[in-house]
Amino acid sequence: MAKRDYYEVLGVSKGAGQDEIKKAYRKMAIKYHPDKNPDDKTAEEKFKEAAEAYEILSDADKRARYDRFGHAGVSGNAGGGFSGGMTMEDIFSQFGDIFGDSGSPFESFFGGARSGGRGRAQGERGSNLRIKLSLTLEEIANGVTKKIKVKKHTTCDVCNGSGAKDSNSVQTCNTCRGAGVVRQVRSTFLGQMQTTATCPTCHGSGKTITASCSKCKGDGRMYGEEMIEIEIPAGVEEGMQLSLRGKGNAGRQGGPSGDLLINIEEKPHESLQRDGMNLIHDLYINFADAALGTSKEVPTIDGRVKIKIPAGTQSGKIFRLKEKGLPSVQSYGKGDQLIHINVWTPKKLSEDEKKVLEQLRNKPNFQPQPGKSDRGFFDRMRDYFKS
Ligand SMILES: [Zn+2]
Ligand SMILES: [Zn+2]
Repeated sequence: MAKRDYYEVLGVSKGAGQDEIKKAYRKMAIKYHPDKNPDDKTAEEKFKEAAEAYEILSDADKRARYDRFGHAGVSGNAGGGFSGGMTMEDIFSQFGDIFGDSGSPFESFFGGARSGGRGRAQGERGSNLRIKLSLTLEEIANGVTKKIKVKKHTTCDVCNGSGAKDSNSVQTCNTCRGAGVVRQVRSTFLGQMQTTATCPTCHGSGKTITASCSKCKGDGRMYGEEMIEIEIPAGVEEGMQLSLRGKGNAGRQGGPSGDLLINIEEKPHESLQRDGMNLIHDLYINFADAALGTSKEVPTIDGRVKIKIPAGTQSGKIFRLKEKGLPSVQSYGKGDQLIHINVWTPKKLSEDEKKVLEQLRNKPNFQPQPGKSDRGFFDRMRDYFKS
């Protein structure tokens, strides 16, 4: 399913400022709010879509990555947990205050939505985990699925995360009466504002435990490891971050898990250098081959290919192998491979070799005569990037 552009979702321009984005999101969230559209799946989807767009565009770092890499740069496209999107709970817990700071009637409207059973009491959310993932150029070119053993907090398998010895040792929390949140009324310059905060007694679970699970001592978690399959889309770049929702540390007492954040690193390749979507190979040829012409094998990301070196090739010439570069992480288009010719000047010569060169030294065709087609390296690079 194709994801819509986040700017389009919120109906703002690419250059929109934070205020405009916030306003646009608030408008959408109110329009499609599930309390206003009960049992309307389309409205719920729109509500989630808007929240996801807001999550990205309201965060300078995520927005910059989205502008550069599209959806793949921030979440989607990579299969598995990547495309899971946000749950209603995520939306309420993350963006609840967008209504709160407006001083508008929507604040109480939103407060109502929370207490109306939607904000199901849950334990504390687990923390995010960060890992580095080193990839070869070949893996980047084709995309790859990696299985990685991650050490982390996992849900206790004895109590299933509840932290309780058995079902009789779980009680409804007295402080919040099971809601997991407590309400606070604050006086601000906009008037009285009602906010909700995680219950300090039960940390949001809505329950207290009278007898703890013997294995996890009431925490609901254990320290262990999990084998996680990570699908990496083709075209990722050094410094990119992918996130797998819910694959981080398990939450306390059955709370939601944090995310697994994957930082991409590139392993250097022995004969190819990456420049964005293009790959560059430095090819050294001798003077006779450059003058007479020849054919040479060069490495590419998917095997060796033969290229023709025409007679009279100058050092610094760049040949282009179309679409032999890397795919875009947004899954359209492919870069090229550039072959940068270096004509090798011998560093030592035998007496015979010297004699031959002495004979050629003053011949008319051996005098440099750079013409319009023999421009320097920078001109060639500029021409290449224009085309
Ligand atoms: Zn346990
Ligand atoms: Zn409580």
